Amino acid sequence: MKPKRRDFRLDIIVLLGTITAVTIASFGLYRGWQGQWAMAVFDLGVVLAVASPVAYAWRTGDARAGNVLAVLNTAASFGACVMLGHTALGWTYLVLLTNFFIAHRWTAVICNLLLIVAMQLLPGFFHDGVHALSMAVSAVLVTVFSLIFAARTQDDRVQLERLAAIDALTGVPNRRSMERALSEAVDRFQRGECCFGLVVLDLDHFKDVNDQYGHAAGDAAIADLASILRFEMRRNDQVFRFGGEEFVALLELDSRDALESATERIRKSVRGSLRGPGGRITISLGAALLREQEKTWHDWFSRADAALYRAKMAGRDSYVIADDLF
Ligand code: GH3
Ligand code: MG
Ligand code: MG
Repeated sequence: MKPKRRDFRLDIIVLLGTITAVTIASFGLYRGWQGQWAMAVFDLGVVLAVASPVAYAWRTGDARAGNVLAVLNTAASFGACVMLGHTALGWTYLVLLTNFFIAHRWTAVICNLLLIVAMQLLPGFFHDGVHALSMAVSAVLVTVFSLIFAARTQDDRVQLERLAAIDALTGVPNRRSMERALSEAVDRFQRGECCFGLVVLDLDHFKDVNDQYGHAAGDAAIADLASILRFEMRRNDQVFRFGGEEFVALLELDSRDALESATERIRKSVRGSLRGPGGRITISLGAALLREQEKTWHDWFSRADAALYRAKMAGRDSYVIADDLF
C-alpha cells in the first residue's frame, strides 16, 4: 500500500475553518434574531465562503485550499470592518495570526499587508491618526512575529522529517524511507516508467565480530559497509539500512543480467574493502527484479529475501537471483 504523505496543515485548516464557520454562523443567527438582516446575510455569505475550501481540503486532502481560506478570511475581516466599524478590529488580529497557520507563509504576509493597508484607507474607521498608526504598527508586528514563528516551525519540521528518514549510525536512509521508495518504485513500474531491481544483503557471521571484538567494532563495520554501498550506488540507485546488519539496494535497471552484474559488483566490492579487527568481512545477497504481478513492494521484497536465505545456505559470500528460483 502506498503510504500517503499527509500535509501537516490539513488538520489545522479543517479545524480552524470549522471553528470560524460555526462562530460566524452563531453571530449570523443572533443578527437575524435581532432583525439586523444585512449583517445576518453577510455572516451567512462568509460561512458559505469559508465552508467551501474547508470541505474541499477535507475531501481531497489538498492543503492548497488553505491559501484560498486565508484570502476569504482576510476579505471577510475587511468586510466586517466596513459594516461594523472598529467593533470588528479585534477579529482582524485573529485573522492576521491564523493566516499563518492555514496558508503558505508568503500568502499570509500578502493577505495581512493588504488587510492592513485597506483598513488604513477606510474613511472614518479610526478615531484619529494615533489610533490608525497604533493599529498599523501592532498589526505589522503581529505579522512579523507570526512570520518568524512560522519560519522556525517550518525549519524544525524539515529537520525532524530528515532525522526520521535517516539511520543515525550510518547516515543512509532508514527502513521507513525504504518503504516509501519501494512503494514509489512499484507505482512507477506499474505506470510503465522504468524497471527496478532489489538487492537485500546481510553481513556474514556478524555475531562473531560482535562477540569477539565488541559492539563498537561491530558498529564500525556496519558504518564502513554503508560507505562502501553508498560508493557503489549509481545515479538513480539508492541504498537503505533495513535494520541490524541488513541493507537494501534499490537499483534502476531492466534486465536479469544487469541485476546479476550489479549484485556481483557489490559483493566483490565489499569483499575487497570491508575489514574488521579480525580481517575480511563478507556479505551474502539476494536479488529480485520487480515483476508485473507484484502490486505491492512486500511480495517483491519477500522474493529477494528468500534469495538471500538461499545465498546464506549456499555457504555465504555469494548471491542468488530470485528470478532463477521461482
Ligand atoms: P549470518 O551469516 O547467518 O547472517 O550470521 P550472523 O551472525 O550475521 O547473523 P545473526 O542474525 O545471527 O546475527 C546478527 C548480529 O548482528 C546479531 C547482532 O548482535 C548484530 N547486530 C545487529 N545490529 C547491530 C548493530 O547495530 N550494531 C552491532 N554492533 N551489531 C549489530
Ligand atoms: Mg548476518
Ligand atoms: Mg541478519
